[in-house]
Amino acid sequence: MEIRILGAHSIESKDAGCSSLLVDDILAVDAGALTGHLSVKQQLNLKALLLTHYHYDHIRDVPLLGMTFYQSKASLEVYTTKPVYDALMKYLMDGELYPDFTKRPPEKPTFNFTFLEPGKAVPAAGYSIMPLMVNHEVPTVSYQITTYDGKKAFISADTGPKLEDCWKQISPNLLIMETALPNSGEARALQAGHLTPFLLYKELESFRKIRGYLPKVVIYHIDPLVEDRIKSEIREVEKALSIHIRLGREGMKVKI
Ligand SMILES: [Zn+2]
Ligand SMILES: [Zn+2]
Repeated sequence: MEIRILGAHSIESKDAGCSSLLVDDILAVDAGALTGHLSVKQQLNLKALLLTHYHYDHIRDVPLLGMTFYQSKASLEVYTTKPVYDALMKYLMDGELYPDFTKRPPEKPTFNFTFLEPGKAVPAAGYSIMPLMVNHEVPTVSYQITTYDGKKAFISADTGPKLEDCWKQISPNLLIMETALPNSGEARALQAGHLTPFLLYKELESFRKIRGYLPKVVIYHIDPLVEDRIKSEIREVEKALSIHIRLGREGMKVKI
């Protein structure tokens, strides 16, 4: 499995994209930096899109991706929860702001949605996808993605601490974890459901206690305005846990 990070940040600039990951060129997780970071050919190569929650930085490119598929007379499987579907239909693809690609064209709609239930694995694009609830200010699922030969990656999505229930249900070779804020933002992180390097440290400790090991760790959903501070605080986490943690960046490829 090869995961390419298309967007590793919480705000957008010419150097930073919002959350989007690409698995083996065919499965996308979140749409914060999809259309602007993939050629039309690469977009049409997608077999499925997973969405974690409806915050704008995770769904913004869904309508534009729909237009690429619609104009190309192609269709795409989209897997997410009902609240995400409802928000997309209400705000972005309401037929006024942008077309409802679940109905166009009527004979073969552009988007086919599958609603996920947390804790129930489903097959998607040749993988097994396990959605698990995490702790964010709106309903949010993380994903454990498993290949046919048993390689597993866990993508946290936006989440605060207390992930023990997730850890009990997964056994990944790779953790891709959000770390949105520096340690000084802990109060805000706890309120909105985000992690700081220190909160990440506690979650990784809890993972190791429950599972007996720590896999590769990559962080994403980083605030570029305080990236240097987050980076130096992550170095402390590495020392405390005796592991290496990679900071996600646009274009980075992670293989397991
Ligand atoms: Zn969010
Ligand atoms: Zn976000």
